[in-house]
Amino acid sequence: SSSGQVGPSFRRKPVIIIVVGMAGSGKTTFLHRLVCHTQASRIRGYVLNLDPAVMTLPYGANIDIRDTVKYKEVMKQFNLGPNGGIMTSLNLFATKFDEVIQVIEKRADQLDYVLVDTPGQIEIFTWSASGAIITEAFASTFPTVVAYVVDTPRSSSPVTFMSNMLYACSILYKTRLPLVLAFNKTDVAQHQFALEWMEDFEAFQAAMRSDDSYMSTFAQSLSLALDEFYKNLRSVGVSAVSGAGMDTFFKAIEASAEEYMETY
Ligand code: GDP
Ligand code: MG
Repeated sequence: SSSGQVGPSFRRKPVIIIVVGMAGSGKTTFLHRLVCHTQASRIRGYVLNLDPAVMTLPYGANIDIRDTVKYKEVMKQFNLGPNGGIMTSLNLFATKFDEVIQVIEKRADQLDYVLVDTPGQIEIFTWSASGAIITEAFASTFPTVVAYVVDTPRSSSPVTFMSNMLYACSILYKTRLPLVLAFNKTDVAQHQFALEWMEDFEAFQAAMRSDDSYMSTFAQSLSLALDEFYKNLRSVGVSAVSGAGMDTFFKAIEASAEEYMETY
C-alpha cells in the first residue's frame, strides 16, 4: 500500500501515541479511525483504553482498563462522585502499570504503534498523579508522542482557540514529549484559520481585536508566548468521521518519534 513506508520497520520498539484532548473533541472516534487506518494499511497497532467510564467503545481494545477496574463499584466502595470514581479507577490501574508495559515489551517486535485512549475529561489524565505515572512509564520504555485532539469547529473563536492552545502548551511543558496537534472534525470546519493564526501572529492579533477588545493586552502577551510554543510542534487537520488526514497524521507521528529518539 502507499502508506507502507510509514511503518517504522527500522525501529525495534513500537511508538506510543497517547491521545488527549478536551471532552467531546473526538478522542475515542479518532482512535477508532486510527485503528481502521492501521488495519487497512497493514500497520501493526495495539490498542489501550484508559477510560474506565466509557459505556461502549467503537474499537476493540487489546488492553482495557474496564477489564481490571469496575468504575461503578469503585464509586460505591469509596463513596465517590463520577469524577472521583474515574480518578480513583485510574489510580488503581496505574499501580499495576508495570504489567501493561511488560505485556507491550513482550510484543514489541510485532508492533509499530500503541494507541492509547484517555478519559473524556482531559484533566483527569493530564493533571493527575496516575496520568503522570502512566506517561512516564511509557516514555521511559518506548518512543512516546502526545496527540492533542482539537475540536476545530468549536475553536473558531480566537479566545477559545487560545485557551485550547494554552492547555496544549501546558501539556507539552509538563510531559516534555513531542506533541502533534490533530485538528479534528475538518469534515465540519477546515482548520486553515488555525494554521494562519499559528503562522501569522499579526493575523491572530487582528482576529483577537475584533473578538474582544477588553482582553487585548493580556491576550497579546499570551499569544506572544504561544508563538514560541507553535515552533515546537506539528499540526495536522484530520477527520475521525471521514478519515481525512490519516497519512499526514502518521507522518507527523513518525517525525515526532524521530525527534523523541534524538532528544531522549
Ligand atoms: P471524546 O470524549 O474526546 O472521546 O469524544 P468522542 O470520540 O466521544 O466524540 C464526541 C463527539 O464528536 C461524538 O458525537 C462524535 O461522533 C463526534 N466526532 C468525533 N470526531 C468527529 C469528526 O471528525 N467529525 C464530526 N463531524 N464529528 C466527530
Ligand atoms: Mg472518549
